[in-house]
Amino acid sequence: MAQNSKEKLSFQAEVSKLLDLVANSLYSEREIFLRELISNAADACEKLRYQSLSKKNLLKDEKDLKINIRVSKKKKIIEIEDNGIGMSKQDLIDNLGTIARSGTSKFIETMKNKKEGDISAIGQFGVGFYSSYMVSDKVDVLSKDAENNETNIWSSNGKESYSIENAKKEKRGTCITLNIKKDADEFLDSFRLRTIITKYSNYIPFPIYLKDLDDKEKEEKINEGSPLWLKDKKEIKDEDYKQFYNNISFNFDEPLRTIHYNAEGVISYKALVYFPTNQPMDLFNADRKNKIKLYVQKVFITDECEDIIPNWLRFIPGVVDSQDISLNISREMLQNNPIITKIKKGLTNKILSEIEYLAKKEKPKFETFWNNFGPVLKEGLYEHNDHHEKILPLLRFENSINDNKISLEEYIKIMAKDQKEIYYFSNTDKNHIKNSPQLEVFSDKKIPVLFMIDAVDEFWIQNVNKFKDLEFKSITKGKVDVSKVGENTKDNKDKDKKIDSKINDLINILKTELKENISNVIISDRLTKSPILLVAEETGMDINMEKLMKMHNQKTPDSKKILEINPNHPMIINLSNNLTKIDHKKMSNLILDQANILDGNILSNPTGYLENLTEIFIK
Ligand code: ADP
Repeated sequence: MAQNSKEKLSFQAEVSKLLDLVANSLYSEREIFLRELISNAADACEKLRYQSLSKKNLLKDEKDLKINIRVSKKKKIIEIEDNGIGMSKQDLIDNLGTIARSGTSKFIETMKNKKEGDISAIGQFGVGFYSSYMVSDKVDVLSKDAENNETNIWSSNGKESYSIENAKKEKRGTCITLNIKKDADEFLDSFRLRTIITKYSNYIPFPIYLKDLDDKEKEEKINEGSPLWLKDKKEIKDEDYKQFYNNISFNFDEPLRTIHYNAEGVISYKALVYFPTNQPMDLFNADRKNKIKLYVQKVFITDECEDIIPNWLRFIPGVVDSQDISLNISREMLQNNPIITKIKKGLTNKILSEIEYLAKKEKPKFETFWNNFGPVLKEGLYEHNDHHEKILPLLRFENSINDNKISLEEYIKIMAKDQKEIYYFSNTDKNHIKNSPQLEVFSDKKIPVLFMIDAVDEFWIQNVNKFKDLEFKSITKGKVDVSKVGENTKDNKDKDKKIDSKINDLINILKTELKENISNVIISDRLTKSPILLVAEETGMDINMEKLMKMHNQKTPDSKKILEINPNHPMIINLSNNLTKIDHKKMSNLILDQANILDGNILSNPTGYLENLTEIFIK
């Protein structure tokens, strides 16, 4: 239980670093401290309200949850008090002190890489409390835990350490006292505080009262408070929507699109969700969660309902409020809940239709959307679900024909004569694709090839296979026969005829010498300029897929590749004419090494390669 003695504890090094960063932030950004502290206070109230659903006497006689802000120029303090869940001693240590929360180092990292102006994203990293040190040289957190009334005061000047001491507090909840720094005294003005509260926290669903302690006037309720999503759309102004978006998402851009609707039918719910304009910084974090808050008749239930929206729409913030869910539902019961499943389906369909609308009617917005969220949306194709039909038409690809990003529909329109497959080349390095020999015959014959440059492309394509009866065909895998497709068809046939026995001798030598490394040596259909090329077997893993899996340390069978040679290339012709004069083993190894280099692979024996090459130069 609580001890009486005052304890001094050290911040973890990462936390001190963060505090230092925050204390030296730009003046223009400092006002966000209030938004962060109000948001924490509101969370504390929501947590208490939720817990009180099952623990009836938790609220006691203080049923109205609220946030009080007090300011005094004389004392140079601002207080932010809530009568929410409160914190025990251990909570204070865990949440505000010793343990660097997972977001701490990520935030420091991001701040290092980004412009200074981004400190306002602090809330996205779960370390918003520390923003109080932008304006304070000392912060006291007095908290009475709602469950067992344990009361403590946490205090720190935000440098290396903090203290915790047993204390007294009449009412449940947390009161944060900011001792305002000299150069931040602008915030001691109650008018200024009122402006900041209405700017950022107008739609916090608990009343926020403001009182000037130096003034006899009564305290005054500042915020609008009522849940925006329940209001009539006609009454809501764009600024209201925007502020609510900023409030719930911790994104500080304009919403790219606002979707507010009322679903009535088997299940009724109201939803207000947004497409962000910018990419949130946590989009690809491993521990990312979705950004949907679930309410039941205005009561916040959870923001951790994994099943409410697919993971590939995790960047969409918003609120879902349904009266079809019981208020007493536990968070565990939300898993595999049939009502949640239906809401998820409805919400997903709605969002996909809205994206489709952008794609058709608001091209510039769609472009922004696609550039930021396209790769995430593609995860929806990797996953088995009912939405492939709607996602596929949204995809946009760079390609070998023009500089625009094209859809699959557009691809079909520019397909070459007699083309029956959708050709793609997958590699996260666009320049590698553009310079690859694999593209040669396709460029010659003006057959379009889609460039798949997102890492996730390798994965969804295995799962989807087809678009409108046309199969996706990797041009880096197996045999690609385009002899009857596109332009210059006749020309190619003529070339085929000219292959003579010397080339066949060369092929046989390569097959024998390289049998350990290569599954086959064949005459290439796809090379027109380069002499040689490695491709994966039709049944084997795509070359790039294999590289990707290796990068992620996944075990892959070391599949043997096929070596393709271009019988019309001067090097191949020259070699085949001189087979009696050259060392077969050395020649074969050199060819294999060259093919590997072309493929972007690391040579297993670079010294051997150089020795062989040098020998040729010396001769
Ligand atoms: P975040 O709120 O994003 O998790 P913060 O650094 O702002 O990150 O707060 C850390 C944690 O401290 C919160 O998650 C919460 O558990 C606790 N906390 C902060 N303020 C309060 C408060 N007023 N009442 C109760 N708990 C609080």
